[in-house]
Amino acid sequence: MKFHVMTLFPDMIREGLDNSITGRAIEKGLIDVETVDIRDYSHSKTRRVDDYPYGGGAGMVMQAGPVVECFEDLKKRIPGDCPVIYMTPQGRVFNQKIAEELAQYEDVVFLCGHYEGIDERALELIVTDNISIGDFVLTGGELPAMMMIDCISRLVPGVLNNDSSAEIESFHDNLLEYPQYTRPEEFRGMKVPEVLLSGHHANIERWRREQSIERTLKSRPDLLENANLDKKDIEYLQNIRDKY
Ligand code: SAM
Repeated sequence: MKFHVMTLFPDMIREGLDNSITGRAIEKGLIDVETVDIRDYSHSKTRRVDDYPYGGGAGMVMQAGPVVECFEDLKKRIPGDCPVIYMTPQGRVFNQKIAEELAQYEDVVFLCGHYEGIDERALELIVTDNISIGDFVLTGGELPAMMMIDCISRLVPGVLNNDSSAEIESFHDNLLEYPQYTRPEEFRGMKVPEVLLSGHHANIERWRREQSIERTLKSRPDLLENANLDKKDIEYLQNIRDKY
């Protein structure tokens, strides 16, 4: 899968993703992260790409010309249509479901804004989707794009050592994940739950499922509305509902 990032700060993207699991995935050729410097398409000698907003007001706005020309050049290297995502606090909020949808594409383009954002005409011409990473404002779209690339990459076959681990993680089934423990069996007087040491797989699975349901009820009850619960799960949920 190929991620193409249009940005004024390409080093930030490369340095951020060239580590750990995403770094190994790039090395193995499972994912590819191409950064394109919008400044290379500046119309000025000083490589400026921003100007004052028409109508006045604070800050600067990224000009349409460099953004659109940068995209047109990039598009020559991408076969067929693909999502072109503008990172913006005004977009729909990113979640695991959106990550799963985007992981189906061969190519995804991210457009990172800076300053007060990008001239609306460039957005009208090239963007297919507006995505936010939450109801807060950052200085630029680079961290949001990196966050999305990290999340989507984990869904690309082969990127995680054990592919099934993405399937049982938080949000997959609209449930949060159960608690995890590793050695030692006892830490500062706190013991690992007995069931996890029992070797009884059905009991372990049931315990984990119940922990997931309870955690979701406690921290994110809104998710339960769309969770895929069977009869046993619903019974369990009814029994613990009064606790929270
Ligand atoms: N003036 C813009 C507004 O009020 O909608 C905010 C501009 S922000 C300071 C600069 C850039 O950061 C945006 O163009 C966008 O690319 C990125 N950005 C900021 N917050 C974001 C968020 N929550 N999600 C995604 N991108 C964000």
